[in-house]
Amino acid sequence: MPDIEKYDQFIDGEFAPSESDDRAEVTFPYNGDTWATVPLGTPDDVDRAVTAARDAFERDNWAGLQPSDRAALIRDVAAVIDDHANELAELETRQNGKLIREMSGQMNSLGDWFRYYASECETRDGDTIPVESKDGEMFNYVVEEPYGVVGAITPWNSPLLLTAFKLAPALAAGCTFVHKPSTQTPVSALRLAELLSDEAGLPDGVYNVITGSGSTVGDALIDHEDIDKVSFTGSTSVGRHIGKTAGENLIPASLELGGKSPNIVFDDANLDNAINGVIKGIFAATGQTCLAGSRVFLHEDITDEFIDRFTDRASDITLGDPRDPETEMGPVAFREQWETDRDYIRTALEEGATLQFGGEQPDDLPGQCFLEPTILTDVENNMTVAQEEIFGPIASVLTFSDEDDLIERANDTDFGLAAGIWTENFRKAHRIADAIEAGTIWINEYRTLTYNSPFGGYKDSGLGRENGHEGLEEYLQTKSVWVDLAGEVKDPFKLG
Ligand code: NAP
Ligand code: MG
Repeated sequence: MPDIEKYDQFIDGEFAPSESDDRAEVTFPYNGDTWATVPLGTPDDVDRAVTAARDAFERDNWAGLQPSDRAALIRDVAAVIDDHANELAELETRQNGKLIREMSGQMNSLGDWFRYYASECETRDGDTIPVESKDGEMFNYVVEEPYGVVGAITPWNSPLLLTAFKLAPALAAGCTFVHKPSTQTPVSALRLAELLSDEAGLPDGVYNVITGSGSTVGDALIDHEDIDKVSFTGSTSVGRHIGKTAGENLIPASLELGGKSPNIVFDDANLDNAINGVIKGIFAATGQTCLAGSRVFLHEDITDEFIDRFTDRASDITLGDPRDPETEMGPVAFREQWETDRDYIRTALEEGATLQFGGEQPDDLPGQCFLEPTILTDVENNMTVAQEEIFGPIASVLTFSDEDDLIERANDTDFGLAAGIWTENFRKAHRIADAIEAGTIWINEYRTLTYNSPFGGYKDSGLGRENGHEGLEEYLQTKSVWVDLAGEVKDPFKLG
């Protein structure tokens, strides 16, 4: 057994023991080895972290720093992340079993989020409004101010990338931050907090990390009376619960939730690219991505050829140790998720789908979490497997011939996170992009995103946007200031 690393929570610029002695284990999904433990925190821990964030916001005046000074610190954060990108990538892989080639790509670009929002911090302006008043000349200006203390909750699938979507704009806005990462992947956030404090010089209390279960620590965080804003990424069911609590407390909530995205291949598509794009959509990251192109719609004229070639390519995918740069698909992150995946396959077959490929645990790999890339054909859009988010390497293949019928079925889902369109006909591509109800559309690509393009969901896939200018607005509230220039208040009984 390897040595087990013991972490504390990170509150007010230092590692701090929890009120509780209970601990959660962090395991490497590839072989099931436990390599770290973190506290299963308590509401008292949450309270200490929120108090530290409040003090940093008010007493230490994080929001009141000159924008250029705050931006300089955020750029230092980016530089420290760059310097430690490989270490952070290894931590990510050891927590959730995702490929080192994916996690090192994510960690080597993470600094870009902070650089982009550092620039936003320095360059964002307010507005002056040409107001009219019957009583004479007025001047009106609008300034933006940070909400205050952010409570952020993140999932396990891309722990630090999804944290950066929130932390970088929140810091730029002048907010301070209390973060509850997933119990399954808490270590990278704790190490990030340590690096930002010790090496980037981020002031104490600006970024705090508390660990523990969603139902204890997460709930205590979102329901804490001193939180001004909630930002959540995770499943639609938990998101709905968080949105309700935020609504009760009348604080804004950004919610980045699940998806069931259509990846649509027309008969005039470049099939080499489309096959790669469909693989990218559903087997990259072992299908454990909110963006998964889990419903593959094929035009009937290319269905047979596409399924043959897709199956060939899927059967060639190299499964193995996620630390090996040659591996193409790692394990599913947890045994419970593996069992969920298998249940969905079973249900699909009961409802009339055909198992075209995969569905089994390969017998030559360690641990209990490997699942072959799985292709289900003869899927109808109303089947469970086409309606519920699975979060595993399971492609549901549907066919279409008529464009209107395609659009109706592609949109016949509670979700609206993303869609892929594969065609060489640019008019058709834009027509379909216009008709699909989703926050991100790719034409002849899939699963690309970056810091300056807004990202978020239609329908039950979420509320609000991350990244880009809109990502910053989630952490700012506006104040409209009226100034009388006429020097006389004429009629006190009249509005205007
Ligand atoms: P999850 O079960 O919803 O959990 C997400 C986070 O919420 C975890 O930190 C969890 O804590 C916490 N949580 C659970 N119950 C809570 C409660 N009652 N109150 C407060 N917090 C609570 O999601 P997951 O299984 O970690 O991640 C997969 C899901 O995330 C998928 O649905 C996926 O689509 C979605 N996702 C969305 C995006 C996007 O940007 N739209 C990106 C990635 C993932 P614990 O698990 O530690 O208990
Ligand atoms: Mg969960």
